Amino acid sequence: MKPRILLVEDEEPLARILGDYLTHSEMDHRWIDHGGQALEAFREYKPDLVLLDLMLPGVDGLTICREIRKVSETPVMMVTAKVEELDRLLGLELGADDYICKPYSPREVVARVKVVLRRLRPTSRPQDSLFRCDEAAQMIYVQGQRLDLTPTEYRLLRLFLSHPGRVYSRDSIVDLTYDMDQEVTDRVVDSHIKNLRKKIARELPDREVIYSVYGVGYRFEI
Ligand code: CA
Repeated sequence: MKPRILLVEDEEPLARILGDYLTHSEMDHRWIDHGGQALEAFREYKPDLVLLDLMLPGVDGLTICREIRKVSETPVMMVTAKVEELDRLLGLELGADDYICKPYSPREVVARVKVVLRRLRPTSRPQDSLFRCDEAAQMIYVQGQRLDLTPTEYRLLRLFLSHPGRVYSRDSIVDLTYDMDQEVTDRVVDSHIKNLRKKIARELPDREVIYSVYGVGYRFEI
């Protein structure tokens, strides 16, 4: 069965182009151009993924995303027209699975849709075999090899492993990884990420798994 994508976008030309790309990539989609119809369409169409524009007539994308999250874990990819908006969105911890900025290339959007959909299939989750987290012992293994991590690096990697593909801003990394009373600057986060990358690279020399997201933060992806 073809994956079903709910496309919530009020700019018709964009929606048409993206729709064509989805069709060519063997995906079904339904297009909604009004925020007020999104939730009804979500319930009816039962999509595998929602591509959700932020600024919509009627109900905005933030509200729609929150409403979807109340009832479902269906992946949501938020689309925003402003790069500056990204940080604010990430800070809201909406539970969206990815964030895309306009103007975008439809090809890239479809590629990212595929990545998110692939993660959903239980049979093809490579992180399950590559990375294993032993929460009780606070240890993480890569291909069976234990990583020699500091407590902070452990918490960082555990955060990434809990939501592969999700983009984390430096602020949200600080909130979710560090103790409340620590003064943590962006540079501190960056240097911990650098060390973590080095340690992972010893076991996985040919692969990048922690990606920098320009102007925003980091994303873990296998
Ligand atoms: Ca819009």
